[in-house]
Formats: sequence, C-alpha cells, structure tokens
Amino acid sequence: MSFERTQEKLKILADAAKYDVSCSSSGSNRSNTSKGLGDSTGMGICHSYTEDGRCVSLLKILLTNHCIFDCAYCVTRKSNDIKRAAFKVQEVVDLTINFYRRNYIEGLFLSSGIFKNADFTMERLVAVAKKLRLEENFNGYIHLKSIPGASDELMREAGLYADRLSVNIEIPTTEGLRLLAPDKKREDFIKPMIKVKNEIIQYKAEKKVLKATPKYAPAGQSTQMIIGASGENDFQIMQTSNHFYKNYNLKRVYYSGYVPISYDNRLPQIGSEVPMLRENRLYQTDWLMRFYGFDVSEILNDQHRNLDLDIDPKLSWALRNLHEFPIDVNTADKRMLARIPGLGMTSVYKILNARRFRLLNWEHLKKIGIALNRAQYFMVCSSNQFERRDLTSEQIKGFILQNSTSKYRKTLSNQLSLFG
Ligand code: SF4
Repeated sequence: MSFERTQEKLKILADAAKYDVSCSSSGSNRSNTSKGLGDSTGMGICHSYTEDGRCVSLLKILLTNHCIFDCAYCVTRKSNDIKRAAFKVQEVVDLTINFYRRNYIEGLFLSSGIFKNADFTMERLVAVAKKLRLEENFNGYIHLKSIPGASDELMREAGLYADRLSVNIEIPTTEGLRLLAPDKKREDFIKPMIKVKNEIIQYKAEKKVLKATPKYAPAGQSTQMIIGASGENDFQIMQTSNHFYKNYNLKRVYYSGYVPISYDNRLPQIGSEVPMLRENRLYQTDWLMRFYGFDVSEILNDQHRNLDLDIDPKLSWALRNLHEFPIDVNTADKRMLARIPGLGMTSVYKILNARRFRLLNWEHLKKIGIALNRAQYFMVCSSNQFERRDLTSEQIKGFILQNSTSKYRKTLSNQLSLFG
C-alpha cells in the first residue's frame, strides 16, 4: 500500500469520524508493563482535558465509511455520494503505533460504518485492539465503538482489550429513530450495553477473589445522542440519559448538536445553526444530575420541557424555587450548598472547610475565593446585609445577565433572533 493511498484513507476516515463526540476518557488506569508501549493512566482523549488539566490527543478514525445502513443524519449513510475507503486491520495498528512513537497521540478511538453485518465489522475492530495489546504491547488508551447488533462473544472480547466501549443511541426517542434510521432497532443498542454492563460487574467481582483476573473495559461505557435532528424536547432527552445512567451504569452520555449535512425534509435544512448553546445546557443539566444531587424532574418536567438558553439550569431552577432561598452558608448541609447558583463543588468544600473555624461573612467568603456575582442573591452569611433583599426572580435574572460575559452570547442572540 502506497504512502499516498494510506494518507488519502486517513483523510477520508478521520474526517468521517469527526461527528462522533463520545470520545473523552476518564478513570482508566491501565499501567505500563515492563516492555510495553504507552501508559493510559488517568488520561482523557480526543483533545479533551484530563482532571489534572492536561490536554491529550488520540487518533480518531473510522475503520471504514462504507455502510449498509442509511441513517438520515449520518454523513456515512449508504445513499450519500461521498468518497469511500476502508483500512485493513494491520494498517490501523501500524498507524497507531507510528503516531504514538512520534508523540502525536496517546491513544486510539476507533469506530466504523457497518460493512456486511454487525459481527463482521465488530470482529475487525476487536482484531485491531487485540493486535495492539498482544503483538505491539501497546498500553495507551483504546476506545472502541460497539457495533449495534454485535454478538455477546465479540462484546466480551472487545472489553478485554479496550479501555472504553461505547454504543451510540444516536436519537433520543424510539419514534425519532424509526423516522430517521428505520433500519435500526432500539434493542440493537441495548443488547451490547447490557452485555458490557454485566461483564464489567462480573469481572470486578472476580478480581476481588482472583487478583490475576484481567480488567474488563476499565474506563466503562459511554454513549452519544444527536441533539436537534428529530424534534425531541430537552425533557425527553434528559429522561433518556437518566434512564441509561441508572440502568446501564454508563460513565458518560455525550450530547452532539446536529450538524445539517443533507437536504432531507425530515431534518433541519443545510445552513441551520448547530445548537451549540442547547448542547452546553444539556451538559450542565447532566452534570447537575450526576454530581449535584438533582433529579431530572426538578429541572425539566411537563411544565418546563426545555432548558432556558439564556441562563444555566441551576440558576433557572433556583429562580423558579425562590422559596428555598436564602441558604445560610454557615449552617446549610452540603446538598443545599451545592444548589446555590454560582457555587461549584470546589467552592462548597471550601465553605464546609472554612466554617469549621469561624462564622463566615462576605469578606471571609471572598478571601477563600468564592465567586459571589450569582451566589450573593441566594445566600446569607454572618452579616446583616442580604444582597437579594426583596427582589423578584425576574429582577435577579436581569442583574445577573447584565453582569455576565458568556462566550455563548453571540450564539444566544442568533438563536433568539429566530423567534423574534
Ligand atoms: S449505521 Fe452508523 S455509520 Fe451507518 S449510516 Fe447509520 S449511523 Fe452512519
């Protein structure tokens, strides 16, 4: 295979992979073996940031962009007239090792269109990971895409070589999926997820008894949903996320604003704005559910089906629940402190720590680095002064927006102008 042809394949298959955002990692600790190559300890991938702030990169490609399916939202769908290419297993292995040795990447994210059938494709993805681990002693990060409908046996093998597995739900509701991807069935996504979940539990249990038990998908499994392609509201999207987190032990759900790529009257037309701000609000809501103790129904429900675009979901919840405030930072428990708009968990811990030594007032809070621009309207401390006074939620929102400098301000005004 000529260098030029490999280059061309790489261009086509890396470009086709860019629509998949489910590729950041966390929690893997596959450490280097004595003669091994690479070490994925604590890494994030896909130019994402690790918990210690490092930006790491990976080779993100498709094995092939040939596909037997015709999902309307996908650039790889069979009816799309595009250049096609396919890597051989050994080519992906060689590219990964070459890029790794040159320090271009710290891992591999490998997905694929479906050629022939699910098992035929999954078998090749597994073969890449297996060769990298067993023949090349590669200990860098590997994220493999699970192909919907792949057999249990292949899914079991995949987890033995990959750090993370993911199967993309793509469309948040069954109706949306039926409309845009009639070849696919919801069960095809669920089956590999259940398999992976059960294997993770089983391998962890066995490892407790037998230290030599290998790790199975140590960074867990994730999924991705496309936002804005099929008309779902935010309540439906977050209910789906909640369901998958709770029932399949997912590490992450990724939200990817739909990028219009085709003239199809089932989809937003080419030129429509990518819903970046909406995507960001969904991530914030996801975060509130996972780390701040919010139930999805507190943020979204039948009365409030879509997230506010102009303010973050915690502030929006607080403004709808002013009767819960002000919260006294000197006495409130962790759960309530975490509900104060503008306070992240780091600030919550700072407060809990500082108040062990003294009653906190505004000056103390500023000194320990608590940002008060939003929080001041929702809390009291050891001071007579209560910043919210008798303001209404609209007034508070107005003050906060006046002083905010959001990087999404431009997008917001564009999106709002659509309703003007
Ligand atoms: S099966 Fe996957 S790659 Fe094929 S068209 Fe559907 S989304 Fe695209």
